[in-house]
Amino acid sequence: DLREAIQKEQFLLYFQPQVVGEGRLTGVEVLLRWQHPQRGIVSPVEFIPLAEDTGLILPLGRWVLKTACTRLAVWAARPGMAHLTIAVNVSARQFKHPNFVEEILAVLADTGANPQRLKLELTESLLVDDVEDIIAKMNVLKAKGVGFSLDDFGTGYSSLSYLKRLPLDQLKIDQSFVKNILTDPNDAAIAKMVIVLAESLGLTVIAEGVELNAQRDFLARQGCHAYQGYLFSHPLPLEAF
Ligand code: C2E
Ligand code: CA
Ligand code: CA
Repeated sequence: DLREAIQKEQFLLYFQPQVVGEGRLTGVEVLLRWQHPQRGIVSPVEFIPLAEDTGLILPLGRWVLKTACTRLAVWAARPGMAHLTIAVNVSARQFKHPNFVEEILAVLADTGANPQRLKLELTESLLVDDVEDIIAKMNVLKAKGVGFSLDDFGTGYSSLSYLKRLPLDQLKIDQSFVKNILTDPNDAAIAKMVIVLAESLGLTVIAEGVELNAQRDFLARQGCHAYQGYLFSHPLPLEAF
């Protein structure tokens, strides 16, 4: 089914706003959905692992990047939208592919998207092996203006010594910490640590899964002013966004 879905382009991107302060829109994260002819909209949680295991994440990831960059180019021509950034999730397997950098550069050139508006979300699972190669690839893209955010930060294999060597722009506080930030002192402590760490490393920080004003206020008091979550908006199809 998945193989066929890629051929038939049965996918669409949802757009979830990223905001600063009281809700000023700065960009979006694009989240993949499978529009299955029988099942309806299928969540990426259900098919991304399969796509990774089968290698289908490569053509699928290319489609996501092409679609996102096409959108950036459209927005660049619209007053009021030209400043928006698009964050794209990139699987470890996709990033490690030998042609990844060339492919991104080709997509940017073909679509005319401004690399400064593209942000790649990487996860810590990328850092398990061959970190030198990862850093080299990031540096090439970074030199073109592409930004990097470290997704789900704190949930996986975090090596703080690698962190200072990666050319990152942003740490993303995982939603599992935000969820219980008001009730669980450990989650609150981890969130605070990520914010302080980002600040000391000269990175920006964004919190995901922000559903309550009280969570936002707590994060703001700790120095985190960029947010994503249902408090501001669910992920939306393009028209609704
Ligand atoms: P993620 O990158 O951590 O994305 C955040 C997930 O949290 C999204 O789930 C989003 O819909 C959800 N979310 C956003 N705000 C809130 C909130 O306030 N509360 C709660 N409870 N949830 C919130 P989604 O869209 O189901 O995506 C799940 C995962 O699938 C993503 O997690 C990401 O790892 C993966 N994914 C999605 N699109 C792509 C893609 O294009 N490529 C790759 N490689 N992975 C993707
Ligand atoms: Ca993400
Ligand atoms: Ca995440």
